[in-house]
Amino acid sequence: MKTQVVIIGGGPSGLLLSQLLHRKGIDSVVLERRTRDYVLSRIRAGILEVGFVNLMREAGVGARMDKECFIHDGTVISYGDQQFRIDFEDLTGSHVVVYGQTEVTRDLYDAREAMGGKIVFNTDHVEIHDADTDKPYVTYEVDGTEHRIDCEFVAGCDGFHGVSRQTIPLTVRREYEKVYPFGWLGVLSETPPVHDELIYASSERGFALCSMRNANLSRYYIQCSLSDSPEDWTDKAFWAELKRRIPTEAAERLVTGPSIEKSIAPLRSFVTEPMRWGRLFLCGDAAHIVPPTGAKGLNTAASDIHYLYHALVQFYETGDPEGIVRYSEKALARIWKAERFSWWMTNLLHRFPDQSEFDLKMQRADIEFLRENRAAQSVLAQNYVGLPF
Ligand SMILES: Cc1cc2nc3c(=O)[nH]c(=O)nc-3n(C[C@H](O)[C@H](O)[C@H](O)COP(=O)(O)OP(=O)(O)OC[C@H]3O[C@@H](n4cnc5c(N)ncnc54)[C@H](O)[C@@H]3O)c2cc1C
Repeated sequence: MKTQVVIIGGGPSGLLLSQLLHRKGIDSVVLERRTRDYVLSRIRAGILEVGFVNLMREAGVGARMDKECFIHDGTVISYGDQQFRIDFEDLTGSHVVVYGQTEVTRDLYDAREAMGGKIVFNTDHVEIHDADTDKPYVTYEVDGTEHRIDCEFVAGCDGFHGVSRQTIPLTVRREYEKVYPFGWLGVLSETPPVHDELIYASSERGFALCSMRNANLSRYYIQCSLSDSPEDWTDKAFWAELKRRIPTEAAERLVTGPSIEKSIAPLRSFVTEPMRWGRLFLCGDAAHIVPPTGAKGLNTAASDIHYLYHALVQFYETGDPEGIVRYSEKALARIWKAERFSWWMTNLLHRFPDQSEFDLKMQRADIEFLRENRAAQSVLAQNYVGLPF
């Protein structure tokens, strides 16, 4: 088989790139290790920056999102029983959009299928060869049969545990990592959200987040120990703990119900450099991870796709390799700022096991300064709605 771009990974990064390239007449093949149903069953991000939303529209897959999404022009931050609102619209003239990653991925799969896009599922033993030459190729197996695709470029969109990053030699690759000493226990429930905007709650018992997917689908998280497992937490225990961490008036309004999904995600900051090696490009979680506190995971994936898509279009339309050569530099400049914001939000709102009384006072002073100071709120709001591409 031959194609212009092999895309490894059929998550949001890979699908979005494939769909955008298709609309510019650039051919690609997506290799996905799992089935479509498996990918769609993963409950993950839910907050989209306007930059991401615009890319979805440019890819021709914005119609359902525009109809069903919710616009959030602010968010609530609470500490103990006190709370205040960060008004994104007033501070930045922009907003974020609530539309689940599952729905984004479903729209992209539907569009790729409608346009005859080539997606190979259940691939095993994917290997990238000769990425540092002008003639890379990728081999993989399906049901024990080996296949080979010759191509011009390879996009590594295969998430944190994929093969693409590992293909870059250790003599070239440098990794930066911070692992946080806690996780997030998340519950999805078919109940109305407790509030029409997100509530980020800092409490003596740890962090909590009240989020949502739609008017009757809520997503709640509580900071938990890394040694916990979802089975340790009955629904009753989860709701009781959540109520203790959010302001009393919100706890009294909270509608509880059976969880339809419950999982624990560890928190990590991670960046690999460079994001290009020859004709191999890393995108999204394959290159970087953020703790979910700043809602940046999916959005940083989108900015990588923006840079790579424009670089490839520039190359195929004009022969100019400038975007390709500078892909890593451009993507990383934005990634590190999103990493900083996610790390800062995590430090601001969580309880750390080794925090001293002094550290707690500093954290409290930081939150109160944010409450009182418009410039500080503006910094948070600009980062939350998303820095420009
Ligand atoms: C549990 C969890 C919860 C999250 N919650 C949030 C959140 O609340 N907010 C937020 O902003 N972000 C969140 N994120 C992050 C966000 O979901 C990711 O940033 C986003 O999924 C990145 O998209 P991606 O396409 O780069 O990677 P992925 O979504 O990981 O997709 C990679 C794809 O590659 C496939 N793959 C892997 N290896 C191979 C291989 N060898 N060959 C072929 N295919 C392969 C995988 O099956 C997968 O489908 C969460 C992530 C996780 C893991």
